[in-house]
Amino acid sequence: MLNVPPQAFPAPTSQQRAAAAGRAKVPLKPGRSLMDWIRLTKSGKDLNGLRGRLLEVTEDELAKHNKKEDCWICIRGFVYNVTPYMEYHPGGEDELMKAAGTDGTDLFDQVHRWVNYESMLKECLVGRMAVKPFAAPKEIPSTLSEEKKQLNGMLPEKKVLAASARDLTPSYDWFQTDSLITIVIYTKQKDMNAELVIVDCEDKRLRGEIIVDDHSYLLEVDLDHAVQEDMTVNIAAKVGKVEIILKKKDNIHWKMLGQPLESHNTFIKRTDRGLFYRKCKLVSKMEVTHDTKLLCLMLPKSTHLHVPTGQHVYLKQSIAGTDVVKPYTPVLPFLPLDFKEPSHRDGSHIYLMVKIYSCGLFTQTLDHLQIGDYISVSNPEGNFKKSQVQTSEDLVLVAAGTGFTPMVKLLNFALTEASCLRFEVQFILSQPTKDWVGKEGKISSSLLSEFVKRSRKDSKMLICICGPTPFTEQGVQYLKDLGYSQEEIHAFTA
Ligand code: FAD
Repeated sequence: MLNVPPQAFPAPTSQQRAAAAGRAKVPLKPGRSLMDWIRLTKSGKDLNGLRGRLLEVTEDELAKHNKKEDCWICIRGFVYNVTPYMEYHPGGEDELMKAAGTDGTDLFDQVHRWVNYESMLKECLVGRMAVKPFAAPKEIPSTLSEEKKQLNGMLPEKKVLAASARDLTPSYDWFQTDSLITIVIYTKQKDMNAELVIVDCEDKRLRGEIIVDDHSYLLEVDLDHAVQEDMTVNIAAKVGKVEIILKKKDNIHWKMLGQPLESHNTFIKRTDRGLFYRKCKLVSKMEVTHDTKLLCLMLPKSTHLHVPTGQHVYLKQSIAGTDVVKPYTPVLPFLPLDFKEPSHRDGSHIYLMVKIYSCGLFTQTLDHLQIGDYISVSNPEGNFKKSQVQTSEDLVLVAAGTGFTPMVKLLNFALTEASCLRFEVQFILSQPTKDWVGKEGKISSSLLSEFVKRSRKDSKMLICICGPTPFTEQGVQYLKDLGYSQEEIHAFTA
């Protein structure tokens, strides 16, 4: 049984509106929006508190700046004076204060790794952490030797791989013919698939990332010579071999593959890998409702990227000179009526269904993009695993507003891949018009208990929920109150 129940649209209180971006937010005072912050950073005001001077900061010095009115935080070896930013922080002052006077990298990565803090806080930069001599532990594999040079606060220890992980480190080789360069990556993983391989080749820079569970292997080189735009990626799933085939621009013999870049041949935790963006072209924009649009973005010819079901990407745009990043979940261009036929996906386009907010910072700029304009799109992120669906007997998708977007691919996947599931949909409106004869209300325990039911006692259940933060948080709590376990609930968040 597959239900798609409460399309409950909570009446937007200011707190709920503030939480529309999908993660914990606190209501900000008037005049403290992201746009206000961007304006302040352009005002020429002394935001680092040192009249723009930069320092080399010791751990002791950092620790002294641990109060709201004097708060420094280190992120990836760089120290910021976040005092002027306190009132503008969507997560609230208390969240920032958790890292006051310390290295906040871990905390930052846990909550919002994707936020472009370098750009947002560039005027608050106090300086770098002073370099601390770091004796490399014996376990550091040669592929991670670059990390010996890490600064204080750049977490070298946690990137050291355990012996078992090291054995699983992928490796690569390459060879050439007159016209082709073939790079072979031995991932040492069975069941490799196209979603786990992300390749970009721009100008002479080649970047190939292989996802191995929660780790990422990266091949990153400045190629010896120019290549053509189109490339081929072949995946031998059973033996875990990935081939990247590049076409030489000139039929000359290459002496080497190229110059290795900083993170070349590293195998580290996925969350420690910076987000990579490529520019995609807006090729169409279609109205879905009065405030929602379907955008089609075309990936560059030299990009191989498939966004897995249940994962999102980040879009990045420069707004008044500051890079602003927001997450969006790709959908299919349509929901096929006949779920038995897999929908046509050539892998070269990403479709996004975006609600345009009249006062929204990012969506207003997005809406003003013209066909043919470019926007930066990140690698996919998210911890949803399709296998959760394949093994479930009862699947319930609970969505509100644009929380519908992860459900689109999920629905298609479930109905094409899990043959035991059936489809049933319930619409519930929180602010219906007078002629609405269906269900109405906001998400509640009683509404959920009406629609979320097991087909049999002890059936394997999966409940996916997505919407504005209060909707998702309350929904998860109600489901737990109704007796569903943590493992049976997946909440989509960034
Ligand atoms: P914002 O400027 O953030 O404003 C949004 C609304 O909140 C506006 O009405 C604004 O007036 C109000 N507001 C802003 N700040 C405050 C405040 N301090 N106090 C009170 N009200 C305030 N969205 C989609 O449309 N499609 C998707 O596929 C999608 N996928 C997502 C996936 C994930 C994992 C997450 C976390 C979010 C997703 N979102 C999606 C939401 C998206 O990331 C943006 O948050 C959304 O587009 C709004 O961005 P904005 O900058 O235009 O609006």
